[in-house]
Amino acid sequence: MKKFFKTKWFTFSTYILLVSAILLIGSIILQNNSAFKKVIFSFFEVAENRAFDYRQALRIIHKQPTPNKDIVVLAIDDASFEMLWDKYGKWPIPREVYGNIIDHLEKSNPQALIFDLMFIKSMKGEDESDKTLVNAMNKYKNVYTAMNFDNQTSDVRIPASLPDRLALKIENSEHFKLNKKYNYSNCRPILNSLVNGKVNIGMTNVFRSNDGIIRKIAPILKYKDGYYPYLSFGAGCDYLSGEKVTEIKIDNKSNILIHDTKIPLTKDGDTILNWYGISGTHTIYPLYKVVHEMEGKAVENPLDFKDKIIIIGTTAMSLHDTKSVPIQEGVYPGVEVHATFFNNMLDGNFIKQSSVTTNIIIIFSVIAIIGTIVMLTSSTFIALLSTILFTIAYLFTSYYVMEIFNLWIPVVLPSISIILAFALSYLTKYLIKSRDFEYQYKLATIDGLTELYNHRYFQESLKKQIEIARRYEQPFSLIITDIDFFKKFNDTYGHQSGDAVLKQVAQILKKNSRNTDFVCRYGGEEMSIILPNTNANEVSLHANRLLKAIEENEFILNNNVKTNVTISVGVATFPEDADNAQDLIEYADKGLYYAKENGRNQVGKIEKNI
Ligand code: GH3
Ligand code: MG
Ligand code: MG
Repeated sequence: MKKFFKTKWFTFSTYILLVSAILLIGSIILQNNSAFKKVIFSFFEVAENRAFDYRQALRIIHKQPTPNKDIVVLAIDDASFEMLWDKYGKWPIPREVYGNIIDHLEKSNPQALIFDLMFIKSMKGEDESDKTLVNAMNKYKNVYTAMNFDNQTSDVRIPASLPDRLALKIENSEHFKLNKKYNYSNCRPILNSLVNGKVNIGMTNVFRSNDGIIRKIAPILKYKDGYYPYLSFGAGCDYLSGEKVTEIKIDNKSNILIHDTKIPLTKDGDTILNWYGISGTHTIYPLYKVVHEMEGKAVENPLDFKDKIIIIGTTAMSLHDTKSVPIQEGVYPGVEVHATFFNNMLDGNFIKQSSVTTNIIIIFSVIAIIGTIVMLTSSTFIALLSTILFTIAYLFTSYYVMEIFNLWIPVVLPSISIILAFALSYLTKYLIKSRDFEYQYKLATIDGLTELYNHRYFQESLKKQIEIARRYEQPFSLIITDIDFFKKFNDTYGHQSGDAVLKQVAQILKKNSRNTDFVCRYGGEEMSIILPNTNANEVSLHANRLLKAIEENEFILNNNVKTNVTISVGVATFPEDADNAQDLIEYADKGLYYAKENGRNQVGKIEKNI
């Protein structure tokens, strides 16, 4: 057990204890202080989100993901926008145009026709143009159009009741946890005959992280008491299952199950999009080409829409439907967000966040690894270098884990843990070292049996004392004691009892000396005391006091036997008796011999003239 305290394991355990204590204190502080908690958490969230964006951007540079060829964005780009405005003399263009486009596209049998456009209810009611659109939309099963929920209330805006056909049922809804931010109380109504007709309707609500960037999409939104699909989610479900989906299954790990596809939901009930980048973006076909085709004009590189999933929306910069997403600063068409969601559904490559348990394991492993590195390396430079290399390796791992497994493991908390672990492990190492140093120093200066200063310390102190006495021209004295008939004592009572007496004599000498005196074990049963600033008279008095104290003391032996011992003492004073260490000891020794010769239990001092 004693050995354990000197091993690196002990240092390591101390370190782990220290880390745990700091984590515990940290979590208590965070628990009791909600404002502080908010700041800390939002800092971690923003930083971790940024780290996610870097991984996404790097992935696009490193390994350009290929979007699904079946997804086509039919874009109202700048050219189409200008051409349509010219042609119809206004914006938005009459809705019958979209009706005609539907009829035209349906001729080539596309998989789905998804409008990321909202046909808002008109104040004047529905006109002929609206009816053409509604008729076209109701004619085909594979057309989807957009609507939006919100929470705005006013006297004139009464929340619409949506027909049951638009809602989604959720099987195993106990595994479905939806954050309140996805609950809505109102909606922006589109044409009545669309809502009450046959066309599929999906929502286009997006949610931004607190830095304004869209990273997550809720596939299912709550409106009043019902659940409704996000536009591309609804279309995606129908596509994957080959029929109209009205009920969604959720497994006990909060994945949405559609046939073989699993859509992982976060604890808020949303999905994390995996981006394809602007250069790898979906096939884009400008809408003006379709209009030209309808008019019988020749079109360069026409696209066959057979079996294609067509998502119609605006990409024109002048129409301002751009979103902030992790990979493209500022300019990303909203319709691409739908295309990306649809694509993630088809490829089953939504991003999954690692679980809390995994994160805790990661953080503790990091703390253990850094601790081990610091404990095992004696050079600070090597430890620092290894820590930096480890951090870089971790960052690369986090990147590859996202590229290969679509898994988002945390980067910010582990990085902070690395710094904390490095600092704490050094602190522990330093604390243990200084404790070790104290122990070593004690070993080198203190006698194990009597706990007095040892012979070496005595010699050094004596030399130092001579220097001090010389410099300040002060006297000091030396006492040497020797237990009387100690050999005999040992023979009578045994060495164990001898040791016990030695210890007690040492204690008595110490107790009867000043704090500034140095009480030492000279060797065997001889002890020495250096008395700074003490002249011959004073030392003689003091030596006699010590004699008396020993003589009067009742010594208790190991076997509870009580006995008495006496000592003989020799004294010497600097500078009058000798002016160097060796002569001073010799002089005191002679005094001691004199005391022994004269019957013991006395202070012996030789006369100068003898
Ligand atoms: P004197 O009165 O002349 O000093 O007689 P003495 O027997 O004490 O003679 P001396 O000082 O020469 O004896 C030293 C003895 O002290 C020898 C040894 O048995 C005993 N001794 C020395 N160191 C220790 C120790 O650490 N423990 C024990 N128990 N005895 C010790
Ligand atoms: Mg002796
Ligand atoms: Mg002796």
